[in-house]
Amino acid sequence: MKNREVAKLLYDIADLLEIRGEMIFKIRAYRRAAQAVEAMPTDVGEAWKQGKLDSIPGVGRGIAEKIDEYLKKGRLKYLDELKKGLPPGFADMLAIEGVGPKKVKLFYEKLGIKNLEQLEKAAKSGKLRKIPSLKEKTEQNIIRSIEASKKRGGRMLLGHALTLSDEIIKEMKKCKDIRRIDAAGSLRRMKETIGDIDILVSSEKPDSVIKFFTKMSMVARVIATGPTKASVNLFNGIQVDLRALPEKEYGSALLYFTGSKEHNIEMRKIAISRRLKLSEYGLFRGKKFLAGRTEQDVYRCLGMDYIEPEMRENRGELEAAKKHKLPGLIGYGDIKGDLHVHTKWSDGSNTVEEMANAAGKMGYEYICISDHIGKLAIARAMDKKRVEQQSREIEKVRKKADIQILQGGEIDIGLDGKFAVSDAVLRKLDIVTASLHSGLKGDGTQRVLSAMENPNVDIIGHPSGRLIDRRDGVRLDITKITEKAAETNTVLEINSQPERLDLNDVNTKAAIDAGCFLAVNTDAHSIADLRYMRIGVATARRGWAPKSSIINSYPLEKMRKMLKN
Ligand SMILES: [Zn+2]
Ligand SMILES: [Zn+2]
Repeated sequence: MKNREVAKLLYDIADLLEIRGEMIFKIRAYRRAAQAVEAMPTDVGEAWKQGKLDSIPGVGRGIAEKIDEYLKKGRLKYLDELKKGLPPGFADMLAIEGVGPKKVKLFYEKLGIKNLEQLEKAAKSGKLRKIPSLKEKTEQNIIRSIEASKKRGGRMLLGHALTLSDEIIKEMKKCKDIRRIDAAGSLRRMKETIGDIDILVSSEKPDSVIKFFTKMSMVARVIATGPTKASVNLFNGIQVDLRALPEKEYGSALLYFTGSKEHNIEMRKIAISRRLKLSEYGLFRGKKFLAGRTEQDVYRCLGMDYIEPEMRENRGELEAAKKHKLPGLIGYGDIKGDLHVHTKWSDGSNTVEEMANAAGKMGYEYICISDHIGKLAIARAMDKKRVEQQSREIEKVRKKADIQILQGGEIDIGLDGKFAVSDAVLRKLDIVTASLHSGLKGDGTQRVLSAMENPNVDIIGHPSGRLIDRRDGVRLDITKITEKAAETNTVLEINSQPERLDLNDVNTKAAIDAGCFLAVNTDAHSIADLRYMRIGVATARRGWAPKSSIINSYPLEKMRKMLKN
């Protein structure tokens, strides 16, 4: 299917027309047509072959002719002409979050900016904000987006990569010649950022699988293809590598391509110490094949227990597996409730009832509504009166919901470690989460320690306040934090927002070793965010967390008894 490719062509035309200051109705016509093609359930290529392009809503004769030329020749003269005379750097600028064609045009006209480098310079020297229609905040956002995209260097957040790989695997499963399929690489190990996406399949007809893969509608460009492997770019620029393997080698290849490199190096050393040889093709004694069909077979033949992919970082898992002392990790289906979600009462976009119903559909037993309370204006924090009003609404929803609903609250830890909310208000809440939202530079240890000393604070939310590749967050003396958490029975959160994953894997392990309890929460600001629980659990698994350490894996009454008071 060429739907996405054709849609992108039309979007590109619209962007270029906008930059060139063409009439708005023309620009809109191309966008409308692009949306229609994108949403078509059938193949635009079929419609083209049947001469029915103009039956697509929004596609008139002019646009139909351009699609026809593009599908015939693989390129479009009109598009080339539109690009003529425009600085080639425009495309790079359009790729920056928050910079659309309107802004590119504005920057070019007012400041003569032609590429990303010039844009960054202008933003950093405060020139953008001098454009009357532009806010200072926009300038700051542009600087941040440029820095984030540089730092990521093409890497993407785990939460987003998973959505993509799920989509690819779902599509690939339609190919009848595939027996097994897995994402490998850092994605399978659930690292917080991902470079390329690696997919492995087992098949007796690799050529048919490769053909299917390179023809998928989400593929923008085929980079390379051979009899058993192929590399492509998706429309968002992400590279996907596919390898097709015989059933017999699938396990050893999966092990090899999952990594980490350091884990694999140690594995090979262990094989050598037993006079064996381990490679992506299998485990061998001399030329004799011993194992390779499954990863489990390989570990077993080396005298080890199976190591979950999330643990394969050479952080002690190999020794533990040899001694049969690996922890049983929290499972993806073990979570019984989400203890940190927002609603319209503060900065969320759904009602209490909508959040409760969505959580119920996920099979949870309970949910804790944790809207902002206090003075945090940017998050529409509630005062005492609104907390009481919310309490009455929650009571009403409880009567019809098939899930237990707790009323909690998220309070802000001030620069002095104190709260803008009285203890009398906090005492009435089922669960109090205290977190840092400002002053996110320097050392935050003392602020978090004093928050934990308050007997009403049950959980420390997103403890460091970091945003992956965007903001480091505060420095924390993790030994002091985990000691105090264990001593005061304060729960530490693993926040599952794709940009947060905070505590991270390493600090999670420190907390587990210190005997702390953790909560894996989504901090959902809408129903859609609830799905991120999976990457929070993944982070817990990367931190070797057993089910027994995660409080929201317990039934409601047991979980409540584990809290501070
Ligand atoms: Zn927060
Ligand atoms: Zn929150």
